[in-house]
Amino acid sequence: MSDMLFRGIDLIEPGDLVIYHGSIESHHGLWLALPCLCHNCENADVLGLPRTRFTLVDPWGEIAGPHDVRRESITRSIAG
Ligand SMILES: [Zn+2]
Repeated sequence: MSDMLFRGIDLIEPGDLVIYHGSIESHHGLWLALPCLCHNCENADVLGLPRTRFTLVDPWGEIAGPHDVRRESITRSIAG
């Protein structure tokens, strides 16, 4: 039980439904979070830094979402 609670508060895993509330207001809403694969994040991997940014994907596959999104800009959806 406590495990579930912790996961709900803190961790976002690839494929989780999240709410985006960052700086791009037109993209506010529900997305699937995937690890960001941009050049900067690839470099972070090479340097051994944790990959902490996300690419957001439309759950219905219709529109492209924002990428390189900071953890602070998304909240894990309760529905997910
Ligand atoms: Zn990135």
